[in-house]
Amino acid sequence: MSRLIIATIGLALVLASSVSAQDRATFTVGSATAARGQKATGVIEVPAGGDAATNIPVAVFHGAKAGPTLALVSGAHGTEYASIIALEKLIGLLNPVEMSGTVIIVPLVNIPSFEQKTPHINPVDGKSMNRMYPGKMDGTQTDRASFLITKQVVEQCDHLIDLHGGDLDESLRPYSYWTKIGNERQDKISREMVLAFGLDHIIIVTDRPKDPQASRYLENTATTRGKPSITVEAGHAGTVEAEDVNALVNGCLSVMRYLKMAPGSPSVIDHPVWIEKVVTLASEQTGVFYPLVRRGTYVEQGMKVGYVTDYLGKTIFEARAPVAGVVLYICAVPSMTKGATIANIGVIGANK
Ligand SMILES: [Zn+2]
Repeated sequence: MSRLIIATIGLALVLASSVSAQDRATFTVGSATAARGQKATGVIEVPAGGDAATNIPVAVFHGAKAGPTLALVSGAHGTEYASIIALEKLIGLLNPVEMSGTVIIVPLVNIPSFEQKTPHINPVDGKSMNRMYPGKMDGTQTDRASFLITKQVVEQCDHLIDLHGGDLDESLRPYSYWTKIGNERQDKISREMVLAFGLDHIIIVTDRPKDPQASRYLENTATTRGKPSITVEAGHAGTVEAEDVNALVNGCLSVMRYLKMAPGSPSVIDHPVWIEKVVTLASEQTGVFYPLVRRGTYVEQGMKVGYVTDYLGKTIFEARAPVAGVVLYICAVPSMTKGATIANIGVIGANK
């Protein structure tokens, strides 16, 4: 072989090994294919198995210039509306002509939950759509959807932001999660992403599964595959308040600036509250729940945060904070069952 041919083969190998998203002329997710500088919309088709098929909507913005690929996903819990509306808004805001890199937006993973107003689970199979990753094709609808999101979205991105909020029955104050995986470089980038997102309370997570084949959560599926990623939450109890939606929209835009996908500097949160542990306060009785504190309240250990009565008004359980900390969310509705969550309390850690 001539030196030229060898050089050409060498170049081809280098190109093949570095064909990340940034080098592609077109970018495809599901049925959406976008050329450079273009936006495309389509669906990730989840075929029928033992239960029904579903189509998960997706928008792809393939920037005019090269850059990383950022996936933005919401609606795994289809009644966490503020997060869904935030991504619907972003679909209308992003301009691929001005962008470097690629943004994949999946605004509503769990359509049956959204349409039937069912919190927490996919009503088709009763599973949470943020617990079954990386998924499998020979399972129920949630398993199949999770598998295809892993293949089409997670594997094709460099970074992922999973957006959530308080569900129909959760009065939540905004916060984000920083997953520390133990890899210094990756942890540094995900930390900078969570600071750039801008929410002022950040939960440090160290106990998520480390095995990419048993990743459970969407963000953890990206994190365990070496992709610096974060989870964020804003919105509460079925509401779509501008404050929550704007926090999520602006957070995504700020992370895009941090990743140099959009011009300008990120607005980085200064001195956030770092939460080192989240303690769940569960009800010991079934009955009617009455809260005594609001989301975001700082409580001392032993403080009464609410109580449960039987259906005739007799108090049967006093809910006291098991630890001192901030009420990340408290049950937003009177329906209470034994073992259900009354509140999640974040224990404040040291400055990180
Ligand atoms: Zn959620």
